[in-house]
Amino acid sequence: MARHLPLFDRRSLLFLLGLLLSAGFFATTLFGYFVSKHAIRDTLIGQDLPLTASNIYSEIQKDLVRPVLVSSTMANDTFVRDWVLQGEHDVAAMARYLGEVRKRYGAFSSFFVSDRTSTYYTGEGVLKKVSPDEPRDTWYYRVRQMQADYEINVDPDLANKDALTIFINYRVFDFGGNYIGTTGIGLTVDAVRRLLSEYQERFQRTIYFVDERGRIVVFGTRLNRDPELRKVEGVGNLVDRILAERHGTYQFVAGGDNHILHVNYLPELKWYLFVEQNEDVALAGIRRTLYVNLAISLAVTLVVMLLTHLVLSRYQRRMEEMAATDKLTGLLNRQASAIVVDKVMAEYRREPRPVSVLLADVDHFKEINDRYGHLAGDAALRGVAETLHNGLRGSDIAVRWGGEEFLLVLRGCDLSEAEWIAEKLRAAVEQAPLGERALRTTISIGVAEYDGSEAPDQWFNRADAALYRAKHAGRNRVVADPPAAPAAG
Ligand code: GH3
Ligand code: MG
Ligand code: MG
Repeated sequence: MARHLPLFDRRSLLFLLGLLLSAGFFATTLFGYFVSKHAIRDTLIGQDLPLTASNIYSEIQKDLVRPVLVSSTMANDTFVRDWVLQGEHDVAAMARYLGEVRKRYGAFSSFFVSDRTSTYYTGEGVLKKVSPDEPRDTWYYRVRQMQADYEINVDPDLANKDALTIFINYRVFDFGGNYIGTTGIGLTVDAVRRLLSEYQERFQRTIYFVDERGRIVVFGTRLNRDPELRKVEGVGNLVDRILAERHGTYQFVAGGDNHILHVNYLPELKWYLFVEQNEDVALAGIRRTLYVNLAISLAVTLVVMLLTHLVLSRYQRRMEEMAATDKLTGLLNRQASAIVVDKVMAEYRREPRPVSVLLADVDHFKEINDRYGHLAGDAALRGVAETLHNGLRGSDIAVRWGGEEFLLVLRGCDLSEAEWIAEKLRAAVEQAPLGERALRTTISIGVAEYDGSEAPDQWFNRADAALYRAKHAGRNRVVADPPAAPAAG
């Protein structure tokens, strides 16, 4: 028969438990993560990015759209046209007019360039003459050829470096529709840039304006990328599509991260507003939560596995103990003694020290049963076992070998020491009142020392033979095998 028939082997049970727990934990944790991730993404696409865009849009309208209207008013002002048609005589009047406009709208500068005389007027009077050969004046000749009524031109190299200056260049026509010059105002868009920077810092969003040629024209404080948007990783491939579609939500991958891009077209400026969000940055919070949850799940799984392991080990130890113990006497039972005897034999092979066995049998036990009943017999047996156990050392082994037979293994005892102990035990049983009725009985003991080579069965048989001789010699006595040499003399 197999020694144990476990329902589950302990290791597979633990493995299965760990697998189930971690699978459950991981599934719920990951599910939660993906649900939050989708929610965050949906909010980004549906709310956050459009809201940012509309905030910036209203801010830029304040800062840029109004100047376009102002410039348009200047271009259509009859004073300007009359003044040109009348020969540009009263420079002071034009200077006063331009100075007035600049002050009223808080512009950085205001100007008129006459096409007939190539004169550049500002609020201070005549600034200079423009010339097609002068690189700084190319803007004028571009506007002169332009189809549209106006352009918004960002001037990158102006005196005050930090303040981004934007010129609105508006073409002026006489009453017959002939081109007579360009007017407009220059202004700083610091407020817009500050806003862009703020959004950039607070939400890790990248915000910038792109013109119709696909160039970045206005951005926040830091933008480490090529102004030529087509050359930028990820978003570059989308530029033509975006310029054609004018607005929408797009996704691209740059630097290994997923980005969501919201684009609006601002018809007044002929610019596109780009609001970009690195999705991985936006998800950093819930990703941290994911890792914490996974760590907790792992810890809980490990703790549960450890506890289960401990409980199972204890349970198994207890089961083994119970299986190895004789119920009536509390001594080792005969089946379990095989393991202990194997151990004793192994010890002997490692280090041969004398070891002996005693085989004890209760004398006329049947009579006790017959006279006092089986229960009293049991109590007497328990008493004998207890008396034997008390007379032994910690290293000795006591086994209930049969009904009322006991096998005692005495480590480190040669035959004569074993005989001496046997005698002591015999006397102790003889004197002990047993059970509630304080019954008296005696035991006979056969003694044999291990001869160093025999099998355990042979060894025990010799003890059994000695016991047999003790019974025949009248019981209540100790007999050794071989019998001690008769004393000399
Ligand atoms: P002997 O001196 O020759 O050993 O005589 P004995 O009566 O002890 O003879 P034997 O060893 O043949 O009989 C043992 C008796 O012990 C038989 C059996 O009924 C009884 N016995 C065995 N196990 C138990 C037990 O667990 N409880 C009780 N009450 N009696 C038992
Ligand atoms: Mg007996
Ligand atoms: Mg017997």
